[in-house]
Parts: sequence; C-alpha cells; structure tokens
Amino acid sequence: MAERHQMVDDLVTRGFVQDPRVIRALRTVPRELFLEASARAEAYEDHPVWIGSGQTMSAPHMVAMMLEGLGLQPGHRVLEVGTGSGYHAALAGMLVEPGGRVVTIELHASLAAKARASLGNARAENVEVRVGDGGKGAPDLAPFDRIYLTCAAPRMPPPLLDQLAPDGWILAPLGDGPSRLVRARRRDDGWFEEDLGACAFVPLRGQYAEPLADAST
Ligand code: SAH
Repeated sequence: MAERHQMVDDLVTRGFVQDPRVIRALRTVPRELFLEASARAEAYEDHPVWIGSGQTMSAPHMVAMMLEGLGLQPGHRVLEVGTGSGYHAALAGMLVEPGGRVVTIELHASLAAKARASLGNARAENVEVRVGDGGKGAPDLAPFDRIYLTCAAPRMPPPLLDQLAPDGWILAPLGDGPSRLVRARRRDDGWFEEDLGACAFVPLRGQYAEPLADAST
C-alpha cells in the first residue's frame, strides 16, 4: 500500500498524471494482483514486467500517460486491444464506473485466462476478457466511446476506426519501436490526430500487423 502511494506520488511529480480521477484509480487498484508471485517484488517499479508468453505488463508511467490521454468518463464503452496482465483494463473499468464497461481482447489464451482470474480478484466486474485478434475489434459490442491499443501497430486497424462512436477517440502506439503515441478523434470533416509523445510497446500481431501492400506496386 505504501509502495503504491509512493509510485503514484512519483508519477505525479514527474508530470505523467494530473487528472484526480486517474490518480485515485492508480492509488486504488493493487498492481501486484496482476503479477505472478515471483514478479510481485517489481510491482511498483517504473518499468515493464514480464508476464509470460514473451509479453510484458506496461510500465506504470505509460499506463498513466495513456489513461490521462483517453479522458475516460462514467458510462463510457471502451475497447482495449492487448489485455496482457489485465491491470490497465482494471483501471479503465474503474474510470468508467458507474454504468460503463470495458471489453479487452488478448491474442494469447493463457494470458487471457490469467488476466480474467486477476480481474476477478480485483473485483473489476465491468471488464470482459476475450481471446482473439483485437485488430478486428468486437463488432457485436460497437460502437465504442474509446478504443486503445497496448501494442504497437503500423497504423490504426481499419475495423477499429469503423467501431468508434461518432465522437469517439482512439489511442494507439504507432510505428516500430520507438513508436509514437497517437490519439485520433473523429470529426465531421475527417480525423483530428495528435502526437502525445514517444513510447515503446510490444508489437501488435495478427491480421493488422503489417502495413497494407501499396496497391500501386
Ligand atoms: N495493458 C497490458 C499490457 C499488455 S502488453 C497490461 O497492463 O498488462 C500487449 C499485449 O498485446 C500482449 O499481451 C500481447 O499478447 C497482446 N497482443 C498483441 N497483438 C494482439 C492482437 N492482435 N490482439 C490481441 N492482443 C494482442
């Protein structure tokens, strides 16, 4: 508990988080619940932590930066691509309470199963974990107010753009490491894109892992 507050104080001091709701969520969700016992000593260190299947739980400052950039509000319907440990989804779930829900998609079934158990232990009841290629989204639950990717994609996967609500936002690390954290918002006349800074993430796999072939070549 003291370590968790220390981590959050540090993130605030370093300027990664300002929104009081995000700060409260970071102070509340026990990050150690999302790690194997052998990795728990690292739960409050500001670096990515191995979670199995060659994947990592993102560093706390990156999770904080993304939550800050997503502007999650009560009632929002959220899609996360890349469940990993489930920690990020638990925070998102808390930020959309009451009335909101999060569906998160993970490619590795073993990670999804562990994340589901951890989310249960953390009592994140408004988070649903699915196994599959998150680049395809969850058309049965669309439209989403917010969509975010926790793995780096060459470009925004087109099915995800289609599943965004008219005033929705999508946040994703784009490009090879180091990637840029890009936020796109839908507007009447197209898309408004902002670059929120440099970041490093594991790559998106699946159908949208490669840029589309240039039709002219
Ligand atoms: N937010 C996570 C970090 C996840 S790391 C956390 O807090 O722990 C990124 C995850 O994206 C990895 O678990 C990886 O397996 C997953 N991933 C990569 N490509 C994917 C795809 N196409 N669909 C769903 N998940 C994917």
